[in-house]
Amino acid sequence: MSVRTRFAPSPTGYLHIGGVRTALFCWLFARRHGGQFILRIDDTDQQRNVEEALQPILDGLRWLGIDWDEGPEVGGPHAPYFQSQRLPIYQEAVRRLLKSGHAYWDFATPEEIQAEREAAQAEKRPFVYSRRFMAETEADAARFRAQGRQGVVRLKMPREGKLVINDLIRGPVEFEWSQEQDHVIQRSDGTVLYHLASAVDDHEFGITHVIRAEEHLSNTPRQVFILQSLGYEAPQFAHLPVVAEPGSKVKLSKRKLDKYLKNRDFAELMELGQKIAQKIGHAASSELFNPVIVDFYKVVGFLPDAIVNYLALLGWSLDDKTEHFTREELVRVFSLDRVNKAPASFDPKKLLAFQQRHMREVPISQKVEMVIPYLRRAGWIPGEVSADLRGKIARVVEAAGDRLRVAGEILNYPEFFVADEDLPYDEKDVAKRLQQPGVAEILQRLEGVLREAEPFTASHLETLIHQWTEREQLSLGQVVHPLRVAVTGRSVGFGLFDTLAILGRDTVCRRLQLAREKFAASAAKPAPESA
Ligand code: GLU
Repeated sequence: MSVRTRFAPSPTGYLHIGGVRTALFCWLFARRHGGQFILRIDDTDQQRNVEEALQPILDGLRWLGIDWDEGPEVGGPHAPYFQSQRLPIYQEAVRRLLKSGHAYWDFATPEEIQAEREAAQAEKRPFVYSRRFMAETEADAARFRAQGRQGVVRLKMPREGKLVINDLIRGPVEFEWSQEQDHVIQRSDGTVLYHLASAVDDHEFGITHVIRAEEHLSNTPRQVFILQSLGYEAPQFAHLPVVAEPGSKVKLSKRKLDKYLKNRDFAELMELGQKIAQKIGHAASSELFNPVIVDFYKVVGFLPDAIVNYLALLGWSLDDKTEHFTREELVRVFSLDRVNKAPASFDPKKLLAFQQRHMREVPISQKVEMVIPYLRRAGWIPGEVSADLRGKIARVVEAAGDRLRVAGEILNYPEFFVADEDLPYDEKDVAKRLQQPGVAEILQRLEGVLREAEPFTASHLETLIHQWTEREQLSLGQVVHPLRVAVTGRSVGFGLFDTLAILGRDTVCRRLQLAREKFAASAAKPAPESA
């Protein structure tokens, strides 16, 4: 039988990093075995607009290359894949369970159930519903209805014995039936509850392996009971360890951003993202712009393969040493028996390291394609990119090297793209390096030298400037620091001579002139001794 797995998100409006790790494991397992991966939408309790709340989930999965064989937008033989559109199928299952005696109409009020629960608590015994308002016959039901009671349908769960589930990750897990409640499967308004829908769909869709988050382990007995009562074979189960907060075992949550920001690595990742988001006009303050949510990585320009590689290791390992995998390798080697039971802590630093590692393998031409949308959105380049401009972008990307950790970090280099008059200057660097006695004169003479420099290449400029500095009996610092601030607006950046060569003679000379006029000319002479 062909392997069929499913990911069953509720339309929440975002794709959680822990959720997508579950999706990835389902996908890897299906692909590993040449099976199918199905996307089912658990939208029975949906108040808001499902389409709107689903789109970010579909977009996130697609961006990561986690494609589904059946589900929304692609259809499939078991359509519809939205639970909200499958009510008749579930109601039919409820009818069958009632008929076979595995479920019953119950007319207790919520207060009566609560009173029983409290009595059990007071006597320190586990709560088991007395089934006092169970309608065994139509006449019973009619009598209860006549009292103004409303009926729900409950499972008639076994009260003795146990169920053993051979979880593919946890091994045999025992459940005492006596610990289970007579769970409600249909509300008084005729709508059905999630556990019923989920079990029925797992059967209807031919799911062979239910791979899902650990928090659903406790729901498994009632789902198995439903499946068995309907005469269906239960799928195999694999409950994945939670994706936990940095350095903890507690489940990662999108609501605890403030807490996570106290973690240095997390804060650094957030800051990296915010800097980019601000420059491209993305709502950086939105609660959905958060490293717990996949969209964050898409917005700032991570590589889907790097995220996939990192997520694969959140709870799984091939051995104790191999960490770097391409997607194809993962598909080849993934197995559930190498999934851990222990929570897997989300490590922002490691994620970034994976990103850098994958980025190193991306050819320059592809990086150029990755950064162009950012430059456009920042308004630094036109929509139409000429061959010249493309060449320049390639040179910047190449010179930036490892500093370009994510595509959006191209926006750390405005000096190569903005007009000379729009160059942003760092105030402190300007004060320290340009507004100093003697700097104006140095810049002016330097401008003369650079105007004549031939060829205007990094290596020639390096030799030239070194020689000139010596000849003028200046320290190298007295020259290169003001030069850098004058042409780039600040003291940090990559190789100065590369920078000069990429900017080109005209821009360099024009900026030297501008810096002199704007900042240096007003400072008194003479030049400081050291710089
Ligand atoms: N909709 C459920 C969730 O988002 C899926 C549970 C399951 O996989 O069975 O957690």
